[in-house]
Parts: sequence; structure tokens; C-alpha cells
Amino acid sequence: MEHGLKIGEFAVSWLQGGEFEIDGGSMFGVVPKVLWERKCASTPDNHVRLANSAMLVQTAQGNVLIDTGLGNKLTAKQKAIFRVRREWDIPAGLARLGLSREAISHVILTHGDFDHAGGVTMQNETGGLELTFPAAMHHIQRQEWEDVLAPNKRSADAYWPENFVGLAEGKNLRLIDGEEEILPGVRVVRTDGHTRGHQAVWLESGGEIALQLGDLLPMPAYSNPLWITAYDNFPLNSIAAKEQFLGQATRADAWLLFYHDPEILACKFDGDGAIREVFCAE
Ligand SMILES: [Zn+2]
Repeated sequence: MEHGLKIGEFAVSWLQGGEFEIDGGSMFGVVPKVLWERKCASTPDNHVRLANSAMLVQTAQGNVLIDTGLGNKLTAKQKAIFRVRREWDIPAGLARLGLSREAISHVILTHGDFDHAGGVTMQNETGGLELTFPAAMHHIQRQEWEDVLAPNKRSADAYWPENFVGLAEGKNLRLIDGEEEILPGVRVVRTDGHTRGHQAVWLESGGEIALQLGDLLPMPAYSNPLWITAYDNFPLNSIAAKEQFLGQATRADAWLLFYHDPEILACKFDGDGAIREVFCAE
């Protein structure tokens, strides 16, 4: 289902990028389960349910997609391993909003992990691979792209080459160095942390502000800067970035937008990281 939140003149919709389950320990790292289970439901065998909500941002200057979900290329074995509970359904979700895949003008990738970049390419009816959003410029940090092409031993597991087939710099791929405004009011900033080239997205329109912090803040449960996933490759950088960005967001009264929470799509925090306003899935 698509759900809309207005940020000034922008309309933000959460699209069905697939849902899966992941081990709770790997999601919460050093945080003991007695603490995280108060904030995040888990299955009897210790897994947590994760959405992969690609966010469509409709602006007067273009339609921006932030991350792309799991895609439709997972094998039956991969679906079993990752416990896929709901299928990626972004083209149909766009169609329900009256948009084609070609109507997406910009794709922003917070980072290259398969659960975020899986929908960059898709398998078509004839079994071939094609870019899901053929008219879009894809924006990724240069550092992230270099790591996708030459991953370290940890990140190799999550950067899948088939998710990047067809991207060529200058044609449909733009490599960002640090910070850049993609469209008026849509700005990306490198955060580091989860991956070296991980980036966040600020939205600003009509005096309202929203921040998509990617996997530095996958769900509201992570409002404490020290709560980071065990997947974060550079944990101290994650903590520093979270302190900085969450501080900025709170002072700006910004909405935080969540990619992985199946229920809470966005919220505002008070100064102590408690939720004071919330926007939920229907
Ligand atoms: Zn993720």
C-alpha cells in the first residue's frame, strides 16, 4: 500500500519494496535483547520483521525514489534464507499512484546493500535484466560506488553485482562527493558509518523538513545514537553521524523517515529521543 505524508509541497509515499526477517542480534549488535525487545517485536526464534519501503518523493521538479527495495531477482533459496514475507511490488505501487517506472527522474541510493539497491535492476517478462527506472539518474556517493566495485570482505556479502548492471557514470549514474542538492529541496549528505559511502537525504519544502537517515536509523527504536546494527562497518562513525544528524533533525523539528519499520513510517523525536508525533502505515 502507498501511504502519503506531506512535507511542504512534497508528497512522500512509502512503496512496497518487500518484507523480510533478520536475526535480532545482528540488527541490534551490542544492545542486550532485554532492552531492544521493549522497542521492537521479535519472533520466538529471535528474528525481527523488516519492511524495505522505497520512498517516492513527488516534487514539482521531478519524482525522486529513495532506495529501491529487495527487487524481483531473489531466488527461491534466497527468499527462504532471508525469510521474505512480502514481495517487492514497486511498479504496481507506482501505477496505483498514476506513475510509470519511466516517470521516476531520480533514484537516490543511501548505500549499495542488496536490501536497498535490489530494485535498481529487475527481471523482465523474458527473464532478462533491465534498469527498473530507465529514465532516472541514479545518485550514489563516489566512495560507496568504489566500494561496490571493490568491496571489502564484510561488504562483499551485501553488494550484489546484478543490482548495478546497466549503470554507467555520466549516463544514468551520478557519483556524489559528500553533499549535493539533487533537486531544489532534496539534498544528500554523506554520513559514513553503516558503510563508508552511506548517505542521508534531507527534504525541505514550504518550511517543513524531513530526514531519511538510511540504515543509521532503520526504525525509531534506534533513536539512541549508541544503538546501531551489527552490520555497521564503522560503528564509531555511525554513532558520531547519528549524534550530529539527529541533533540537527530535532532542532529543526524534522520528520524522520523510516525505511525498515513495517508500521511506523515517520516520526518526530523530542530532545530525549522519545516519539512525540508519529505517522503510521494504515
Ligand atoms: Zn538496510
